[in-house]
Amino acid sequence: MNMCVPDSLRFRGLLLLASLLSCLNLFCRGKLPSEAGSSNPPDKGSWTIYTPFDWAHDGNPVYGNFITVYSDGAGADLKQQVCELAEQQFSDIMLEFQFENTADFIFPPGYNRIDIYINRFHTENIAWAYWGGFLITIRVEPLDTRWQRYLNYTAKHELVHVFEFLIEGKIDLFADVWFKEGLAVYLADPETAGFNPVDTVAELDAWIARNQDHPDQGNPIAIHRQSDFPPNADRTYYYLMFELAIRYLLDERGGMGSLDNVLDLMYDIRNNIAFESSFEDRFELNMEEFETEFYTRLRTYLQ
Ligand SMILES: [Zn+2]
Repeated sequence: MNMCVPDSLRFRGLLLLASLLSCLNLFCRGKLPSEAGSSNPPDKGSWTIYTPFDWAHDGNPVYGNFITVYSDGAGADLKQQVCELAEQQFSDIMLEFQFENTADFIFPPGYNRIDIYINRFHTENIAWAYWGGFLITIRVEPLDTRWQRYLNYTAKHELVHVFEFLIEGKIDLFADVWFKEGLAVYLADPETAGFNPVDTVAELDAWIARNQDHPDQGNPIAIHRQSDFPPNADRTYYYLMFELAIRYLLDERGGMGSLDNVLDLMYDIRNNIAFESSFEDRFELNMEEFETEFYTRLRTYLQ
C-alpha cells in the first residue's frame, strides 16, 4: 500500500519527474552554496533557540539546497547521506502538497535554512522537530539496515512537521496532536519503519477492546493535547490510529478531503484561526461530531 501518493497517474508522473530533476540538482557539500546568498549562517543553530537542547556542533556542517546538517560528531559520509535524503524528502513533501512558493515559508527570525542536527553522542534518545529544523539521534555509522529504515521514516516524519512549522510560521504547531502526528505518520508511511497500518475492522475492534477501561476507549480524536494521553498509553499504536484518522479524512471513500485542505488549514493557523474552526471549515466536518462518530465511521470505512 502506497499511502503517501494520491492514486492518480498524473500525480505519479509528476512525482517521478520531480524525483529525477531533484536527483540531477541534488547537491550537498561542505560549504554554503552561493545560490543561498553570501551571508554566513548565524553563530548558533536554530535548535539552540527553539528546543531545550543547547548543543554545540563540530564546526563542519554539510549544506544542501534548503538544508544544513550539523552534528556533534557524525562523520562526513553520514552528514552527506542525511543531507541528500532530507533534501529529496523535503522536495517530495512540497510536491505532495503541490507547493512551490518557497519564498512564502516563514523561517524563525534570522534564519533562512532548515537545520538538521544528528545527535551521535548526547545521551537523549530523541527525534524532535521545531520551528526551523529537527534533531535526530543516530547511534551507529555506517548505518545498518535497521538504522537506515529508522532514518528513512523519521527524517520524513520530522520534515512533515518542519513543513507545517514553516507554513504556520509560529514557535509551536497549533493543530491537535492527533492531526499533526497523524499527518506526519501518514506521509512518512508507517510501513517504511516496519509498522503495519491499521486496516481491518478486526484490528479496530481489538484496539477498542484493549482500551475498554479508558473513558475514550482509545479514541484517537480525543487526543487533542499531549496531556490527553491516558497514563501508560501505547503511544506507538495511538500514532497508527492517528494515521488511520488522516487516511480516512483524505480518502474518497472517507472524508473526501485532500492535502489542499490540509495546506489551507495550515495557512488558517498562520492567520490565527483556531484549529477546530478551520478543521470544520476545510473538511466540512464538525470536530465534536467526528470524535463521537469516529468508531462508527471507521468501521464502515474499513469494511
Ligand atoms: Zn511527530
